[in-house]
Amino acid sequence: MFKDKEKTIEIIEKSIKKSLVHSNEGDVASYIPELANVDPTDFALSIICVDGQEYNFGDYNKLFSIQSISKVISLIMALNDNNVDEVFEKVGTEPTKYKFNSLIPIDDIAANPFINAGAITTSSLIKGKNLDEKFNRVVNMVKKLSNSDNIIFLEKVYKSEMDTTDVNRSIAYYLRSKKIFSLDAEEVLDLYIRNCSIGLHSTDLAHIGALLANGGKNLSNGSEIISKDSVRIVLAQMASCGMYEESGRFLLEVGMPSKSGVSGAILGVVPGKCGICVYSPRLDKSGNSVVGKNLLKSLSEDLDLNIFL
Ligand code: GLU
Repeated sequence: MFKDKEKTIEIIEKSIKKSLVHSNEGDVASYIPELANVDPTDFALSIICVDGQEYNFGDYNKLFSIQSISKVISLIMALNDNNVDEVFEKVGTEPTKYKFNSLIPIDDIAANPFINAGAITTSSLIKGKNLDEKFNRVVNMVKKLSNSDNIIFLEKVYKSEMDTTDVNRSIAYYLRSKKIFSLDAEEVLDLYIRNCSIGLHSTDLAHIGALLANGGKNLSNGSEIISKDSVRIVLAQMASCGMYEESGRFLLEVGMPSKSGVSGAILGVVPGKCGICVYSPRLDKSGNSVVGKNLLKSLSEDLDLNIFL
């Protein structure tokens, strides 16, 4: 996709340098105790193009928890397991100015699939005999989408969040009281937190992004892994709701469907071109990686990746 590989590397290195100026800004997430133990100076960038070109910088072998980027996977699975109308009867499609774990944007239904209430809803739509089977299906989907077997469950992160997740627990019970689902609220909550505790690398997320950029088709053999209709929905929701309450501003400045997580990762997708993952754990007030959002902005400008021209 990028014609001159050497030149592309040079441009990316300059963008990284510009964005690392912000590396002391923000704080790592600490409301999940285990997340406070990460090294705030960690940095990784992976770009994987639909033609298979791959660019990796920094600690791209570093494992981190997927956190809210799992909301993309839950939406994909909810759309696979149900029809579109069934999904969007239960969860809305609109951005919100409230924080990702707020109860306010649950009117009759959660505002969108990328706030916690929305992802707890999509988790309830994932099919399976029991919790273990549902979670296995999610992990297998992540493996398939990332073309990687190095996807693991981070038990410490999971336990740490389960012990401190009163807000998400309230959201799960509230949704159940609104008849959004009739399953056991503890079980739906558990699946949601397990999904957030999946551990992977920047290369894995960039690969998921590349697959979305490729219309849901496997990069090497073209076989369909996600339907094009689902990819369109997922990318539209990433563009409008993927960057917490800064989604509009980010789209305006960066012009790339993206999804952020409180571990400090951001997944960006440039349809027809590439998937990008930046990992840098210090976050701004909304929960977006400071270096990550600055780097995506530079890359969008310097590599001409803005989807709006
Ligand atoms: N597990 C986190 C939570 O539910 C995910 C939040 C995020 O990454 O936005 O609070």
